[in-house]
Amino acid sequence: MRILKRVSSLQRHLGIIKSENLSIGFVPTMGALHNGHISLINKSNVENDVTVCSIYVNPTQFNQKDDLEKYPRNLDKDASLLHANGCDYLFAPPSSQVYPKNLKTNISLDISALTSVMEGPNRPGHFEGVVQVVKRLLDIVGPNKLYMGQKDFQQFTIVNYMLKELEIPTTLRVCPIIREDDGLAMSSRNVRLREDLRPECSILYKSLLLAKEKIDNTGVETIENEALEMLSRLDFKPEYFSIVDGYTLKPIENAHNSDYIVACTAVWVGNVRLIDNMILRGENKIR
Ligand code: AMP
Repeated sequence: MRILKRVSSLQRHLGIIKSENLSIGFVPTMGALHNGHISLINKSNVENDVTVCSIYVNPTQFNQKDDLEKYPRNLDKDASLLHANGCDYLFAPPSSQVYPKNLKTNISLDISALTSVMEGPNRPGHFEGVVQVVKRLLDIVGPNKLYMGQKDFQQFTIVNYMLKELEIPTTLRVCPIIREDDGLAMSSRNVRLREDLRPECSILYKSLLLAKEKIDNTGVETIENEALEMLSRLDFKPEYFSIVDGYTLKPIENAHNSDYIVACTAVWVGNVRLIDNMILRGENKIR
């Protein structure tokens, strides 16, 4: 595996690959890699000739300075893991390469229809930062396929919208959520969880399972309230538990009218914010 930090060197390598008509799969990450990330690498390896992974902790998508500063970073460990899992290129640029001083990287795309719910109001500016960095990375890499996790449901929905609106010739592939044995969705932030709270974290998964069990014969509001109650214990503070339409992310009033329903939640566990989701009906259409 080659590790590259400069756009020009990555593009020199990828230029040769493209000239040979080989396909490129791209996995953007912020590092502190775990098996969730590796599942995306594996999928890309199966579906492409070459896999590129990027590691860049993008400051423009953090709305809390503290979260950005405390975000776990371990490039050497990440590089070994990627190498062991057959990744071909690791792109680990400094900010000066992602956001050069004289390059306009803000994109003028109205994403407000998809950001007015869930993560949007709770993390102002977050998704604007996400589309900015994903667009910039796509411009740099120019992959055939882009791999993202269902774990960040609203994120992949917005990125998919961007791909369509800007007519970017890259196909989005969404991979299932990889969980710990007790159901906790793998996340780079899990290492920061308080030891006494960690065993209780399966409650997020349990609340989602309960929603799935109940969606056919219980009102949406009742399920949401029950889940919020489940998630309000010890040092757990739920920010939202929303049952929404999987295409539009709009709240669902009557579950009988929708064929694609997802429950999404964000919960503060001590000072760590966790998100999770589960498709309650239908299946992910972007695979
Ligand atoms: P991050 O490094 O947290 O920005 O995540 C990079 C990519 O990995 C995103 O597309 C995430 O949705 C995906 N991802 C993170 N955690 C998981 C997980 N537990 N299972 C599957 N994909 C994940």
